[in-house]
Amino acid sequence: MLQLVNVGHKSLADYASLASRGLMSEIRRLAEPLQGKRVVHLSATAFGGGVAEINYALVPLMADVGLDVEWRIIQGDDEFFGVTKTIHNALQGDPQGLSREQEATFQRYNALNAQQFDDDYDYVIVHDPQPAAMVDQFPDSDAHWIWRCHIDLSTPNESVLTFLAPSLERYEAAIFHMPEYVPRHVALKQAVIWPPAIDPLTPKNMALSADDASYVVDQFGIHLERPLLTQISRFDPWKDPLGVIDAYRLVLQTHPDVQLALVGSMAHDDPEGWDYYNRTVAHASGDPDIFILSNLNNIGSVEVNAFQVHSAGVIQKSIREGFGLTVTEGLWKARPTVAGRAGGIPAQIRDGETGWLVDSPEECADACREILDDPTGAAARGRRGKEDVRMRFLMPRLLRDWLALFNQLAGNDLGETALETVAAV
Ligand code: UDP
Repeated sequence: MLQLVNVGHKSLADYASLASRGLMSEIRRLAEPLQGKRVVHLSATAFGGGVAEINYALVPLMADVGLDVEWRIIQGDDEFFGVTKTIHNALQGDPQGLSREQEATFQRYNALNAQQFDDDYDYVIVHDPQPAAMVDQFPDSDAHWIWRCHIDLSTPNESVLTFLAPSLERYEAAIFHMPEYVPRHVALKQAVIWPPAIDPLTPKNMALSADDASYVVDQFGIHLERPLLTQISRFDPWKDPLGVIDAYRLVLQTHPDVQLALVGSMAHDDPEGWDYYNRTVAHASGDPDIFILSNLNNIGSVEVNAFQVHSAGVIQKSIREGFGLTVTEGLWKARPTVAGRAGGIPAQIRDGETGWLVDSPEECADACREILDDPTGAAARGRRGKEDVRMRFLMPRLLRDWLALFNQLAGNDLGETALETVAAV
């Protein structure tokens, strides 16, 4: 069988002070008819990126409310993950498509993974494109197959989408962050919309005092008396780390004491990451005030938390972005947050009220200057941003959405609970 991920335990009761009483009882009600149902999550990696981040919280919470749930990782090598990275980029709008050989590689690895998988579940949740074609091998499955798309599909490369379409059309439901991502030329059986969420109780998002955060970032050589701007992201062209460096250099002209941290983990399904890491290092040209850090420097969840808490401003200058959990995380820490007007980011930041939306390094630099020049006004935006996250983007809400969908697919009555669906083509 495919490798299991150990996610540990979580208790929904611990979230009682963070979620409304109505939401907590809605979750209990929706979980009632699903007791003991077997659920599996399939994804490409247990480390790095948004899917892993979500599953470490969602999977144990599903277990806590009574589901028999597992998370399994598909297998692949550099050749396969090179192809899936091309697919990922193409679905986010990159014109480069797949060769016949690459298409065959994708299908071969999906078939191989399917051979190592037994579909003896009530619900099979497939995350993102990497395992999306495994469903082809189970035409008579009794399970409800659900595709959860985490990427920005608003301007997909149509040839790659057409290649994937026959697989996507087999799923009983496909879930997207936003209505704009529902592909128009794919005959999905059902498209459902909900945004992802962060877990406020993980080491990455738990309350950390300013002193503790300073202590942690100090270990990495950050000068505590000088302002710090931080972007936390994989090293990926869509996250635009080079543009962040350009913005920092513009800020430097008026604020010579500013420092920049670019913190990004290396996911094993992301061979391109190394190339982009090296390009980022080259672009920084040895500037001692640019700190390029990753899990290779022992950056883990607590360190990410500390960098976010300690920073004068959190940046996420994405050009394409599925949702942008790092934005949610920055806002949750009530940080002044500057982010690209891309993908799911405008759904999280109200420009001018809870943060800054930017379209270029120049606008990014202007926003950072505003933060450094008016810390009181910036802090007020950060506080409002945190309230938005509390209302809309915390893990109990995401759990509720999943339970609602499981019930709907089983034909159970949803009661007062609504799911946002988009008409299929
Ligand atoms: N992340 C991390 N360490 C890093 C870089 C990213 O833990 O060095 C986490 C980050 O905190 C966030 C997730 O990975 O929780 C990235 O999710 P996001 O939606 O921002 O982007 P994705 O990588 O899924 O495109």
